[in-house]
Amino acid sequence: MEEASVSDEAAAQVGSESLYAIQPIPGKGLGLIATKDIPKGTRILSELPLFKVSPGESNRQILTDHITKALKDLDKEKQRAFLDLPNVYGLDDGPFLGITRSNAMPLGPDAPQAGLFLDAARINHSCRPNAHKSWNANIVRLTVHALCDIKQGQEITISYLEITKIYVVRQALLKRLLFDCKCELCSAPRHRRQQSDGRIHAVEMVEMGLHMYFSESLSYLPAHDYAGGLTYALGMFTELKAEGARDARFPGVYHTAFKISVKNGDKTRAKIFAERAYAARVVVEGDDSPLAVELAQFVEEPTRHPLYRPSADGKEVELPRELSASQFEKWLWKQRPDVGEEEDEDEIEESESEDEDDDDL
Ligand SMILES: [Zn+2]
Repeated sequence: MEEASVSDEAAAQVGSESLYAIQPIPGKGLGLIATKDIPKGTRILSELPLFKVSPGESNRQILTDHITKALKDLDKEKQRAFLDLPNVYGLDDGPFLGITRSNAMPLGPDAPQAGLFLDAARINHSCRPNAHKSWNANIVRLTVHALCDIKQGQEITISYLEITKIYVVRQALLKRLLFDCKCELCSAPRHRRQQSDGRIHAVEMVEMGLHMYFSESLSYLPAHDYAGGLTYALGMFTELKAEGARDARFPGVYHTAFKISVKNGDKTRAKIFAERAYAARVVVEGDDSPLAVELAQFVEEPTRHPLYRPSADGKEVELPRELSASQFEKWLWKQRPDVGEEEDEDEIEESESEDEDDDDL
């Protein structure tokens, strides 16, 4: 029952009853199981690091000494829980370093430090996870949020990969962690996987286009025009929706659309995109996350963003009245209502249902 006591403690940290139990999962060792229905957006876990390390430190002895000292300061129960964690690196560098390298999680994207989290380390991987982990520097804890409604008894999963890649690349990356991923996405029939790979590839292409959009040195690109930028962002949104993705890329797309709008001096659309980015960010990270707090300021005043430039004609964009929901979406993303009306209509309506989903929380 050692695992249960560990999760009880994590629950005590957030002052609420634990929403999960650490249990054996067939074929996967231990994992987290929802002990009750968990609605989308719920903070499932909020965990302090057992200790922090600098994975970039190349001197293994320095790292081992650091971990040994940190472990000595812990009580016996925590030391035992640490030693029970899986070690995919073997014993060449000693168990402490192997376990730490196998389980530590970075404290933010490209962060120089990583943390060891006893409960979060037990969450298994899925390429289509139902939960999202992120380091929240404001509360100095790792949080895990539900990306969709999770039923009691279901396994809670996160992605170990920072970016969703096509099947063969994912498998190769995950093999380094010594497992063959058999998640919903990886075990789908071949033709479904190929469809999914096509969409993942399309998302990568759009991301590249959006990256260029914000590159000052490439300002001659046609994508630099306002409607062109929003079309890129909408394209990414549509592909993600078709892929059934529900991860942090959704708030990311709205955030990008917000930046495109402020860059073009359109405070009206910028405010709407900031509101949507904020709502979607709160779902995956909570309203206390640094990104959510930052976005809340832009909802109040979009011109605070450093990319803001006054519009070329100095006029304010008027919020249109009396548009249907799908017409409003076309106006928002600067899509022409008269081009491919029928086909677009379906896509936009589908996008709307996702928006409503996001806005629920
Ligand atoms: Zn997978």
